[in-house]
Amino acid sequence: MNNAHIEKTLEKALADESLSRKDASVLLALDPDSDETKQLLDIADRASREWVHRRGYIWASIGLDYSPCPMNCTFCSLGEKWGIIKEPWILNVDEVLDLIHHYDVPEVRWITLRTSEFYSIDKLIQIARLAMPLKHAELVVNTGEFDRKDACALYETGFNVAYHVMRLREGVDTGVDPNERLITLEAIKQSPLQLAALVDPIGPEHTDEELVEAMFLHKAYGAALMGAMARFAVVGTPKYELGTISRARLAQITAVSRLVAGKQVDAICTHPADDRILTSGANTVVVEYGAIPRDTKISQGDWKGFDIQEALKLLRGAGYEI
Ligand code: SF4
Repeated sequence: MNNAHIEKTLEKALADESLSRKDASVLLALDPDSDETKQLLDIADRASREWVHRRGYIWASIGLDYSPCPMNCTFCSLGEKWGIIKEPWILNVDEVLDLIHHYDVPEVRWITLRTSEFYSIDKLIQIARLAMPLKHAELVVNTGEFDRKDACALYETGFNVAYHVMRLREGVDTGVDPNERLITLEAIKQSPLQLAALVDPIGPEHTDEELVEAMFLHKAYGAALMGAMARFAVVGTPKYELGTISRARLAQITAVSRLVAGKQVDAICTHPADDRILTSGANTVVVEYGAIPRDTKISQGDWKGFDIQEALKLLRGAGYEI
């Protein structure tokens, strides 16, 4: 496709307030460093201005348990088989409550409680019950599989959103059965919980078709927050040797995700964020604490020093209002 064709496709996406599957594949096939991709990023940035009026959001994520997980996903530091965790570390309820209150400030829209696959749903419910009501943020659950009854119970105790994703090559690179994942996605859809789902975790080996498939599947399940997350190369995990994707490629995928999500989705998240990606359609950045599946040690502070102040600086620098 030449420049003129790309321009026409992008203008159509903006006018239609969404992007087709076929057009998404074409845009993902572009060279991330080409002029055409620059056009894509500019249009996604324009969509962010026109569709979400330059509102930016911070997503705080608390990793509750750095403990060996039998699902052994090949990119995750918590995988039991990789032997990375020498000493399990689990936040107690009071510590989680303190952290929730620490992040419950006007600048943070969501606080996520993230766990390994088999963390107790009852314990998450107990924590939410004690944490409620929050003053500013909404509570998000990011855990293993659950049914509609659990989804409704999570909602009733204070969770508004569930982060749940059909990970790339689910069941091949992960220990989770893709059908189980779909059952949880359906349970979320049938409950009052909103779905948040990025294309996750993206490595250099993933094809454009796989990325498109993930975007449209999450959209079909009604995702209210979408976007893209690069896979981090964690030393000691099987995927380490494959490395990660470039920032230019992440910006390109984020931009396509912005256009696929359409006008009704007001939050597009990118991880890790930088100023280039934030002018490519993303308006949501992540601050993390505790057990991080992308790291070989726990973080008893904001991960890599990226705290609320840094997140604000980045978002405001890209012209977002928080
Ligand atoms: S990604 Fe989740 S399910 Fe997979 S090993 Fe890590 S904690 Fe377990």
